[in-house]
Amino acid sequence: MGRFAPSPTGPLHFGSLVAAVGSYLEARRHGGTWLVRMEDVDEPRTVAGAAHGILATLERFGLAWDGLVLYQSDRSAIYHGALQRLLEGRQAFPCACTRKELGGGVYPGTCRFGLPRGREPRSVRVHSTGVRISIRDRVQGTFIQDLERDVGDFVVKRGDGYIAYQLAVVVDDAAQGVTHVVRGADLLDSTPRQVHLQRLLGFPEPAYLHLPVAINSWGNKLSKQTGAAAIDHHPPVNVLWKVMDFLNQQPPPELARAELPAFWSWARGAWDASRVPRMTAIQVPNGLLDPP
Ligand code: GLU
Repeated sequence: MGRFAPSPTGPLHFGSLVAAVGSYLEARRHGGTWLVRMEDVDEPRTVAGAAHGILATLERFGLAWDGLVLYQSDRSAIYHGALQRLLEGRQAFPCACTRKELGGGVYPGTCRFGLPRGREPRSVRVHSTGVRISIRDRVQGTFIQDLERDVGDFVVKRGDGYIAYQLAVVVDDAAQGVTHVVRGADLLDSTPRQVHLQRLLGFPEPAYLHLPVAINSWGNKLSKQTGAAAIDHHPPVNVLWKVMDFLNQQPPPELARAELPAFWSWARGAWDASRVPRMTAIQVPNGLLDPP
């Protein structure tokens, strides 16, 4: 069971399409289900109409998902239930610190053993003392993080009241029965936090596969600013061919002019995760998505 979990903060771009295609093909290659989940838990960052636009683009590209799209904005009560469990188990604690007081960097543990006198709780953080997590990513290999040293006690409920991505994603992957997480390597660094939460909450640990992210020659991730408008103005197969090439799936040149069904029937049979480059980022030419 795989999934694609975009944040509806803008249109789908080349970078997010790589994650969509990789997760879709990994699921379909093995006869699995592929879900789409809208990660609109961060309401202040959600852009009106973006979710609809992303789904329309997926459809236009022939990426057909199973079942209904899950919206995180509908699931607040479920996330709060998990938060409560962490608090009751003393695995998480209320924190009064403001971002300004902390000034960035690893959390110094100020409220770990209780709020300072006269302070009100703002956020909720998870204990990280002595936690070292090792994951075996199917592309990137072994990735080890000392949570206490590298991350610190991390936020699961934010100061503005919203549930943090780290908690929402773990609750949803478990609730939806996701067994294979395929996504961009920009999230590799978040994975140990998610595995820690899975263990605390007694959830199964999915297999992870982090795909390289596309960067331009300035080293910036291809994003809304650099590739979003372009994918919608291109013939889908042309863009999909470039995605497969980017993931080193060696698409035959003539496939770039195929019809969508022919492209997908080739791609579903040809997908081989072991060919994906073991890199967290790959530079693509600046003109990659110039008008055809
Ligand atoms: N919503 C996240 C993003 O768009 C992805 C989360 C995930 O795949 O776990 O970056």
